[in-house]
Amino acid sequence: MAKLLLHICCAPCTIYPLSFLKEKGFEVTGFFYNPNIHPEEEFVRRRDALYEFFRREVGEVIYFDYLPEDFFIRIEPELSPAERCPQCWRLRLEKTALYAQEHNFDYFSTTLLVSPYQDQAKLRTLGEELSQKYKVKFFFEDFRTGFREAHRKANEWGLYLQKYCGCVYSKLEREEAISQKKR
Ligand code: SF4
Repeated sequence: MAKLLLHICCAPCTIYPLSFLKEKGFEVTGFFYNPNIHPEEEFVRRRDALYEFFRREVGEVIYFDYLPEDFFIRIEPELSPAERCPQCWRLRLEKTALYAQEHNFDYFSTTLLVSPYQDQAKLRTLGEELSQKYKVKFFFEDFRTGFREAHRKANEWGLYLQKYCGCVYSKLEREEAISQKKR
């Protein structure tokens, strides 16, 4: 059975890729490395939702502590989302690819491929680049087809659904959008 290391951004986005990959016959290990998430209470809520989800599912997950310095060392505050997000994906996927190489996984992939808010083409290019660098195959699939159904299930199961992408900048952007609507 091929071993696949799946970078996980949050529990709701894991529902569809995990069931898809298991059906394809992969042995999946989760990898929760998300230093982008702000603040720590939000990180804890997303991580705890994943604990809860994996009480339903059979599977191992590697959890990292809250490491915001990893994000802030790399991502400068003045960057636009178009510049910032690719660096944020790289930070998380590079760690995943490196771990996959060091622990003899056959493949790595990411639940970011489920989100209609992320750039699939750029994620794919990045995954393929890291695959070359770390000599581990990148598994690409357009998981967006399962996004709505997974979120319906997450609601039904009472899993925490976050209101913004993750970083402090996305939180502020959302708050600004809400306050503009109210004006
Ligand atoms: S908006 Fe999302 S993908 Fe972009 S930098 Fe923030 S957390 Fe990362």
